[in-house]
Amino acid sequence: MAQDEFFIPVSGFDLPRFAGIPTFMRLPHVPPGHARFGEVEIGLVGAPWDGGTTNRPGARHGPRALRDASTMIRAMNGATWVAPFELARCADLGDVAINPGDLMDSLGRMEAFYDRVVAAGIRPLTGGGDHLCALPILRAVAKSRPVGLIQFDSHTDLNDVYFGTSRYNHGTPFRRAVEEGLVDPRRYVLIGIRGSAYGREDWDFAAANGIRIIPIAEFHARGAEDVMREAREIAGAGPVYVSYDIDFVDPTFAPGTGTPEVGGPDSWAALQVARGLGGLDIVGADLVEVSPPFDVSGATAWLGASLMFEMLCILAQGRSGWQGTGS
Ligand code: MN
Ligand code: MN
Repeated sequence: MAQDEFFIPVSGFDLPRFAGIPTFMRLPHVPPGHARFGEVEIGLVGAPWDGGTTNRPGARHGPRALRDASTMIRAMNGATWVAPFELARCADLGDVAINPGDLMDSLGRMEAFYDRVVAAGIRPLTGGGDHLCALPILRAVAKSRPVGLIQFDSHTDLNDVYFGTSRYNHGTPFRRAVEEGLVDPRRYVLIGIRGSAYGREDWDFAAANGIRIIPIAEFHARGAEDVMREAREIAGAGPVYVSYDIDFVDPTFAPGTGTPEVGGPDSWAALQVARGLGGLDIVGADLVEVSPPFDVSGATAWLGASLMFEMLCILAQGRSGWQGTGS
């Protein structure tokens, strides 16, 4: 398929990578309302929201740092030889216009934005933002039926209430998503859990609902390929959402995040689990919790952008199998 020039990123052969306005992966900026919005198949979105953060903030600055780092991405995946921009029409849809002073309003604004994305037949790949962003995205992509979920994270994010009244924060999004019927808990797998815990209540919720948790000791013992084989079986043939918290990765490789936990996968294993998503019907994906104020070297944003590229390659490879979208 000869790709429309409009959707081809600016090449580093034509303009140096440090030059130009940094959209995600140097793609065209095609926000909702743009004349060519309806032609986009995979939309990269910034969700500059960290009002759900319970500890160290800063993920609101994630999209800008991820965009800047992503200008170093070239057109072809050197490990898998996938050329995503030849396989699907990709664009940067811009940032969601959240309201930093109002959490509930922001959740509504995010859901409304993703409603437009889904209505246009676009599969969103989001750069966060804190992990609460996944809830309004799921409300949009799972509006018509529950989806499976593959979550990479060192935390379950299945807690119920913080500080007595806080039901919507980055430690609760998937508890709410299961309660709201957005995620089928039997098609939900959580990979990489570790660190100290508040208690076992979130694990009890997972067990009671049939959610599969693969804790970090099991991940290290089995390796990325074997774990992802099981993850694909659990997610099955139906629509699935992928949520990737950068704190899944060891803080040696991803220090720039609000809630790091030691003993995690290295950057190679982090890439391998993303490559292990091949063959799934992914209706959307995110990479969240990059916090630039804690990312002194920029390594976390670079890893985050690289993980977004791996997920983009998987999405683009699956594009030919999508129902009712594109040509
Ligand atoms: Mn986490
Ligand atoms: Mn998380």
